[in-house]
Formats: sequence, structure tokens, C-alpha cells
Amino acid sequence: MEIIKPWIKVENYDPKKILKSIEKACRTCYRSENLITEDSYKQLLRNCITRGHESILEHEKVTVRIKCDIGFYKDITRHRAGTAFSIESTRYCNYGKNKFGNNIKFIDPVFIEDKNNYKIWKKTMEMIEKNYLKMGENGAKPDELRMMLPHSTAAEVTMSCNMREWKHILELRCSKMVHPSIRQILIPLLLKFKKDFPEIYENVPYDEDFPKEWYAKLTIDKE
Ligand SMILES: Cc1cc2nc3c(=O)[nH]c(=O)nc-3n(C[C@H](O)[C@H](O)[C@H](O)COP(=O)(O)OP(=O)(O)OC[C@H]3O[C@@H](n4cnc5c(N)ncnc54)[C@H](O)[C@@H]3O)c2cc1C
Repeated sequence: MEIIKPWIKVENYDPKKILKSIEKACRTCYRSENLITEDSYKQLLRNCITRGHESILEHEKVTVRIKCDIGFYKDITRHRAGTAFSIESTRYCNYGKNKFGNNIKFIDPVFIEDKNNYKIWKKTMEMIEKNYLKMGENGAKPDELRMMLPHSTAAEVTMSCNMREWKHILELRCSKMVHPSIRQILIPLLLKFKKDFPEIYENVPYDEDFPKEWYAKLTIDKE
């Protein structure tokens, strides 16, 4: 068994290109293409978002790859509009095979802070893995094996959203009300978006008290 940290890889986008592309689409509404300058998008987008004229954000999207637990994708896939998901399948991936190192990977639940409870969690995961592998040796297929897998099981997800849906999801999923395994991945993404696209995300609130040491590592996916 391996206990691993979550991570998020963001596609290598050009923020200014995305913002200017949204501006170009938006100016169709007012036929004000003649007013486009190097940085005219800044004020235009701020004005539109303040007024709730957000459909213009649907013209551009950002894709991310995420290493998360099953709990994360169970919750995040409830967002149906403007999203696309490709998720590692527990029906096709048999973690008892060499391809997966003959072990199950679990996302470290750092937010189980009580040492004794963490030990109980770890023992339970060890027992699950032992019995998963034993059932596999007995000939069980992934369809049967997956019935053993808990929320903590690591999975890879590719997620694409348009810029409007990212705003909606980040507004809903970075607050104190949200499970820590989601906050630890989406707060770092929101902070990156705030830096790269302030015109769109600067006013999106988030749980500022969430421990930074729990943040998932965010890198740029250059592949
Ligand atoms: C803190 C938190 C706790 C949650 N707890 C639970 C829980 O305990 N149990 C549970 O089942 N879910 C829970 N959810 C999920 C939640 O109810 C939504 O399903 C999820 O957040 C997706 O919302 P969405 O607005 O992106 O929906 P989408 O389905 O993607 O819809 C996008 C938008 O389209 C509109 N829309 C879509 N369908 C309709 C419709 N039929 N009628 C009118 N307008 C529509 C709405 O404006 C909506 O915002 C929770 C979510 C959060 C953030």
C-alpha cells in the first residue's frame, strides 16, 4: 500500500490570450471591436462580471489533471453544466496487476489530525488492500474488486471546464462548508486563477484559514 499526496497539474495556458479572446467575443454584443487595445479587456471584463453578464466566459476553457481521492470526484462530478470529466475507472483498473505496482494507493487524509484515529484509518486501509489482493488471487474481476475500495482510494481525473463554470465551481467548493479533500485541491487552483485572471476571479471568496501545508501541489502540465 502507498499513502500519497494529492496534486493538480494545470494545462500550460496563456492567460492574456484567453482574456483577449473573451473580450473579442464579448465586443460582438456592443459591436465595439474598434475599441480593442492592448489591455482594454481588463475594464470590459470587470464591467461585464459586475453586471452578471457571465456567458461571455463560456468561450474559453482550462483543463486540469488531478490526483485525488474517490470522495473528490464523487462530489465534483455533480457539476454537470460546462464540464467534462475523464476518470480512472475502478472497473477496468486492477490494482493487483503489475501495471499498478500490485498495490492500492490511498490519498493521505492529513485532516484526520487525531493520531489514534489516523492509525485506525491506516490499519483499515491495510486490511482493505490485503483482502483486495487476496480476492484478486482467487480470480475476482475488477467489477468485484472495486466493491472493496473506500473513499480514500487514489484516482486520476482529467477535468475541463469553461471559465464561467470554473467560477461557479470555485465559488461553491472553496468554502469552509466543503470537504477538506476538495478544498486542498481547489483552493490552490483558485489562487492561481486569481493571479492569472484577476478580472474574472478576484472576488471569488475562499476559506483563508485552511492550512496551507495541506494544499495539494500545483504544477504546470507542459506535456
Ligand atoms: C457544500 C455543499 C454540500 C453539498 N451537499 C450535498 C448533499 O449532501 N447531497 C447531495 O445530493 N448534494 C450535495 N451537494 C451538491 C449540490 O446539491 C449540487 O448538486 C452541486 O453543487 C452541483 O451544483 P451546480 O449548481 O453546479 O449544478 P448543475 O447540475 O451543474 O447545474 C448548473 C446550474 O444549472 C441550473 N440548473 C441545473 N438543473 C436545474 C434544474 N433542474 N432546475 C433549475 N435550474 C437548474 C442551476 O442554476 C445550476 O446552478 C452539495 C454541494 C455543496 C457545495
